[in-house]
Amino acid sequence: MVPTRPFGKTGVEVSILSLGGIFDIQSNQLTLRKALEWGVTYWDTATSYVGGRSEIGIGKYFSKHPEARKKVFLVTKSGASNPNRMTKHLDRSLERMKTDYIDLYFMHAVSSIGEVTPEMKAWAEKAKAAGKIRFFGFSTHSNMEECLLPAAKLGWIDGIMTTYNYRLMHTDRMRAAVEACVKAGIGLTAMKTQAGFSWGPVGRENKTTLRLTKQFLEKGFTKQQAKLKGVWENPIIASICSEMPNLKILMSNVAAALDKVKLSGDDMKLLERYARETSTGYYCAGCAHICESTYAGKAPISDVMRYLMYYHSYGDCERAKTLFAALPMDTRKHMPTLDYFRAERRCPQGIPIGKLMKEAAEILA
Ligand code: SF4
Repeated sequence: MVPTRPFGKTGVEVSILSLGGIFDIQSNQLTLRKALEWGVTYWDTATSYVGGRSEIGIGKYFSKHPEARKKVFLVTKSGASNPNRMTKHLDRSLERMKTDYIDLYFMHAVSSIGEVTPEMKAWAEKAKAAGKIRFFGFSTHSNMEECLLPAAKLGWIDGIMTTYNYRLMHTDRMRAAVEACVKAGIGLTAMKTQAGFSWGPVGRENKTTLRLTKQFLEKGFTKQQAKLKGVWENPIIASICSEMPNLKILMSNVAAALDKVKLSGDDMKLLERYARETSTGYYCAGCAHICESTYAGKAPISDVMRYLMYYHSYGDCERAKTLFAALPMDTRKHMPTLDYFRAERRCPQGIPIGKLMKEAAEILA
């Protein structure tokens, strides 16, 4: 069975691998059955995923297998920014998933700690008192460090799901942010652990890539599995949430979680070197406060880079287009006409922002 780790100070042990439910679970019930069988008992979804078919699919499974609900640490999320809409979303999630409680409820895609308001705190307390949720927190894939550090001081956040991978985990800012959360008793789940590119030759080969692939294959795992292991090497990360829409990926990830071979110091250094050599110009680190601050909300650069990552690295055109279509029409209209010179000068990753914003407006529209 996949091992477990404590989730912050909640007193709950969660599987170190979490089933990322961004797929049509309604027509893929076997993946849930096998996940449970192999000990992947932390299930992650969101009210918005696949037009609701993710949550509905989980509900279908619980209806058929009511005994499964108690084994699962169930997480869902709401993208609402006010308590009334949160309540509507929560009630809909409960109804869809045929359950009367959610283990951990997230505000979805927080990019500034200002969004985590006292009203949200009051809402979370009320939902807990009503028995509808056990724990509360947020997910973040923009300005992660700037969200994690202050969250550690709030004193009422139980869990956070954050972008965290072999490209980001070694920076001083990220180290300080996760350590602050752990000290505060916040359970941490890592996502986007494969650290895909926003464009460019995905998986481009250089000498380090070839050495990396060879070195890991000799140890019996793939580059993708090594990236998971790199994150698990940090014991303060409770779980990795990975999108696992089919048995092949689930089996590969479970095998990595069960494998007792640890990455050596040399393996970790090689991963770090690979990250250094391949990040510049291709990998968006989500530091939206750096590039977006002068565009007054007209250019959601970090979000668009993420959509391009779904498009190019994940090959998930539908998700990229759906998310892009949800941007305000004005934003989509003006986005390709803005001058991104200042943003490009500031970007620590050297991303060709102007070129990519124009490309996004063409291929995702
Ligand atoms: S485009 Fe550059 S500055 Fe903007 S979020 Fe990505 S890495 Fe950070």
